[in-house]
Amino acid sequence: MVLAERVKNEKQIERSPRFRFAPSPTGGLHIGTARTALFNWLAAKSMNGKLILRIEDTDLKRSKESYEESIIGDLKWLGISWDEFYRQSDRLKIYQSYANKLLNEGQAYMCFCSPERLENLKNEQLSKGNDSQYDSKCRKLGSEEIEKSLREGKKFTIRFKVKKGDIEFNDLIRGKIKFSSEIIGDFIIIKSDGTPSYNFAVVVDDSDMMITHVLRGEDHITNTARQIMLFERIGIKIPYFAHISMILGTDRAKLSKRHGADTITQFRESGYLCEAMGNYLSLLSWSPRDGEEIFYLSDIIRRFRLEDISKSPAIFDIDKLNWINGNHIRKKTDLELINLCMPFIIKKDVVKKEILEEERIKIKILRCIGAFKDKLKVLSDFPEYIKEFFIEKISSYNDDAIEMLKMETSAKVLRILIKEMQFKLKSNKFNKNYGLDESEGKEIINTVGMKLKKEKIKGRFLYMPIRASLTGKIHGPELPKIISILGLENCISRLKYTLNNIIGT
Ligand code: GLU
Repeated sequence: MVLAERVKNEKQIERSPRFRFAPSPTGGLHIGTARTALFNWLAAKSMNGKLILRIEDTDLKRSKESYEESIIGDLKWLGISWDEFYRQSDRLKIYQSYANKLLNEGQAYMCFCSPERLENLKNEQLSKGNDSQYDSKCRKLGSEEIEKSLREGKKFTIRFKVKKGDIEFNDLIRGKIKFSSEIIGDFIIIKSDGTPSYNFAVVVDDSDMMITHVLRGEDHITNTARQIMLFERIGIKIPYFAHISMILGTDRAKLSKRHGADTITQFRESGYLCEAMGNYLSLLSWSPRDGEEIFYLSDIIRRFRLEDISKSPAIFDIDKLNWINGNHIRKKTDLELINLCMPFIIKKDVVKKEILEEERIKIKILRCIGAFKDKLKVLSDFPEYIKEFFIEKISSYNDDAIEMLKMETSAKVLRILIKEMQFKLKSNKFNKNYGLDESEGKEIINTVGMKLKKEKIKGRFLYMPIRASLTGKIHGPELPKIISILGLENCISRLKYTLNNIIGT
């Protein structure tokens, strides 16, 4: 019976689905692995199943606790939760006992070949133009030879006896996949230091943890052949396999830092929202049937189907991620955004820590959020947008702003505005603690506009010199917003400074 049929016959779908995400803590959580974690979580949730998080840290040299911590932190940040947790380094005895069982049953054997012999063998095979594979030398060792080597304290590995024949499985995303075991030599399941090989640990764990679905990156397809052989011999039900396509850059090359692909921690630190990151990752090789692009993960759990995952490669497009992030930023309230932006404001030292808690500063930041929310793509851009509002004088004026200010009519506009503002300041008709609000700012601009009407100074000749004088730029937020952020006194001093130093009247 071919395997594909057997998989079907095993009626695994009747068992409650159990998915697993199995990161190796040899680095942080990258886009590709985060997407695998997310798809496993979505698939498990959508099928009322369970998700198991398994840290695959048997590569003792490369695994680090700090990576495990950052992976877990990033998963939690993305909103991915799990029902069970395991760490392979806590399970070394279990792999040993499975390996001993295979040894006792004659399915595996001890191999005493030295690394030098293996290296020579490989080079010899390669030089003849053949694929390299172990020549099964130690398969034939008699018990006396084995005991002698053991007495001599020779190091050994445990190898799996590969049976020749085809291996076929039905990938839930990619359809039928067939391998010939002719190209697979007896492979190591326990290394000479007693730790399990990757393929062996995965199969022991997937068996022990009763995993029903193995959903992982396409780069693991070739491992699947070895793993199926092991599953067969260990004697448990073979899980369903689903291999997700790789993620490429917009130039269709393998994804790298060059494409802006970082770890989730780095995205988080650059001001991407967890909602946006989850939204974007879910769209890498999958999309809801209605084509919707902006959503929360909780909205799509019920719409997620494994069979809707595409087998063509996904493209990582930072512009699209920025667009999605901007959309999620605009779904937040201004008060939520203030909390989200605060770490970035502090980091860039835009506002001195001592005054951050002051009510008037909080109101000022809140008004900045109102002014720049529509423009914001990543939270880390926010300090750059607002920094000019938190210093007394503008640090530099753009060339086009200077040009605008030097127009014949500009000085007049600024002088009238100063008068209006001084008048307002003296009138005490506004709340001094909170400064002007936007509508009061609008009133002032309207009055200035009325006063200049008969001289036909209007439109850009009215608005642009004011914006240029108050911000150093001719484009930016609406004037009432700028006035309400800066407050009357700061506006007046900026206007005067421009008159004296830029226009020079
Ligand atoms: N630990 C493997 C990795 O990080 C994943 C193993 C698997 O999913 O089977 O690539």
